[in-house]
Amino acid sequence: AIPLVVARLTGLAAQNGLLIQNRAALERVNELRYVLMDKTGTLTEGNFKVQTVNALAEGWTSDDVLRYAAALEQGSSHPLATGILKAAHDLDVPMVMHQTATAGEGVSGMIGDDHYRLVSPTTLPANINSQVRDLITTATTTGETVSVLLKHDEPLGIIGLSDAIKPDAQAFIESLHQQNITPVMLTGDNEKAAQRVAAALGIHEVRADLKPADKIELVKTYQANGAVMMIGDGVNDSPALAQADLGVAIGAGTDVAINASDVVLVDSKLADVTTLLELARQAKRKMI
Ligand code: ADP
Ligand code: MG
Repeated sequence: AIPLVVARLTGLAAQNGLLIQNRAALERVNELRYVLMDKTGTLTEGNFKVQTVNALAEGWTSDDVLRYAAALEQGSSHPLATGILKAAHDLDVPMVMHQTATAGEGVSGMIGDDHYRLVSPTTLPANINSQVRDLITTATTTGETVSVLLKHDEPLGIIGLSDAIKPDAQAFIESLHQQNITPVMLTGDNEKAAQRVAAALGIHEVRADLKPADKIELVKTYQANGAVMMIGDGVNDSPALAQADLGVAIGAGTDVAINASDVVLVDSKLADVTTLLELARQAKRKMI
């Protein structure tokens, strides 16, 4: 039989958009000191719009850059893919073969006889021309998320995208500060894009340009000082979600993230995390 308090907690949680997959993870709620959060799709809508496209190679137009990028993104569920595919909607998208996706880095595939990649600026080949590197750095200074299209090691273009902050994100960060829980942003996006969102929300600890393995290492580092909640939505967040004391997945996120988590935000609302903390504390005091 399920003890009454467990059944009540699960029921109340469900009414508040929370799916509790591992109740034991709620045990350390009173010791929670840090909430580590992904940016894209967690603090932001994950609804990217292409803002700028720059062609870098001779004979390439910005439409060509978009067409090839869209080819590589076909079938990808990453929020950047959705934005790029929308922008290329009216263009002639070439055929792609042998597509791969690398979490936290980007996508690649064969178009004709050549290997193309669309990747984050941190994943660029070392021998890249310094003038091109400067152009890419400049693209990130606007706070946009940037992906670079390459043919083998030759940069062909830069795509800048932007994403809106979720309407309930600010109130959520404020509620963490009030509870003396430190919010920390962990993102695979560039430093400027990360700082733009962090500054708007009052998050003072920010780590950008992270690979999935860096996220899990940072969870461990913070765990040395107290219990850690991790909130995320992507494949890139899954190892960190599993490592955290309390892993919380965004319902609209990937299945991989949901499977790695202890609690799912069914309606993808950050405000429901505040309710989760309250319910878990009440359950500990045997109030529900
Ligand atoms: P976040 O931690 O903010 O959720 P990701 O780890 O998913 O970000 O991605 C980090 C960076 O890698 C992106 O900002 C982008 O530059 C690049 N990237 C990842 N996936 C893709 C993709 N499908 N298409 C293009 N770029 C991608
Ligand atoms: Mg994400």
